[in-house]
Amino acid sequence: MEQKPLKNEYVYIKNKERIVNLQSLILQKLSNYFLEEGFKWILPVITSKVTDPLWPDPGASIEKRLEFEIYGEKVRITQSMIVHKIIAVSLFTDKIFTFSPNLRIEKPERKNTGKHLYEFTQLDFEVRYAKSQDIISFVERILKKLFIDLMENGIYRKEMECIKEKWETYDSMDIESIYGREWEQILANKIECPVWIKNIPREFYDYQDPLTGKWDNYDLYLPGIGEVLSGSKREILYDRIIEKMVRDRINKENFMVLLDLSKNGELKDCAGAGIGIERLLAWIAGEKNVANVQLFPRIPGVVDYL
Ligand code: AMP
Ligand code: MG
Repeated sequence: MEQKPLKNEYVYIKNKERIVNLQSLILQKLSNYFLEEGFKWILPVITSKVTDPLWPDPGASIEKRLEFEIYGEKVRITQSMIVHKIIAVSLFTDKIFTFSPNLRIEKPERKNTGKHLYEFTQLDFEVRYAKSQDIISFVERILKKLFIDLMENGIYRKEMECIKEKWETYDSMDIESIYGREWEQILANKIECPVWIKNIPREFYDYQDPLTGKWDNYDLYLPGIGEVLSGSKREILYDRIIEKMVRDRINKENFMVLLDLSKNGELKDCAGAGIGIERLLAWIAGEKNVANVQLFPRIPGVVDYL
């Protein structure tokens, strides 16, 4: 296992002041926008019997899933709060957001992508009765507002001029047929403005039209960085969820509450998304590697002193 010399750790942390200031400003602005739009701020869960399976997402590459026993029960470390979000907006409120620590033990070969960490934070949110387009419009609105606010605070990047442009939308199938299977990085390097990618085959909780097979989901790509957000309208019908769980060989036992609510018709139509804070921050800071915006970096394959 690689380790930096001890002294480098201090130098690294001391040099982080600019980033921490920027991060504070961005977190303050984003949480204010959500609160102003009527979202309830919930705190994250870290251990739970249920977490995101991250399967079958073609972008996922998890070396190991963290599961252990507490109080005689098997629990998992949060890979995302997707299930908790859907249950919360179904049962008690119509709009929630959280800053959720996600642990994903990415394969060590992802060390050099500049985009992967094994601990990161999602600004994760969900809205009852929302359609995909509502979420897409909301995200564009708050990100454009963020860039304007940052410019007013003297933080400028040429790319922020994209607030004046229309953010284009493409179907992932069309993009794949142009750039091939490894389209994600190629696309990230080609675009000059953020773009939306729709219809991406992935986990059971994203809505898939049973007739056309098309997925009602969306990712936002930023120039250079690539995917910064994933979201979708959710699958809430019991038979559809079960069918997809069987198809994906997902263990139903791990999703008891979700399945019970859906069987009783208590899951509400909803849509939402999660924004990777470190990727957004890296893009705004002009940093090529997301690890550079973490005060205590969590680089795949590297366990540091702190
Ligand atoms: P996902 O649930 O995989 O779509 O993740 C939601 C968002 O979290 C992504 O769009 C990224 O911005 C961010 N993200 C996902 N995996 C990582 C990772 N390993 N390191 C840093 N950010 C990540
Ligand atoms: Mg994603």
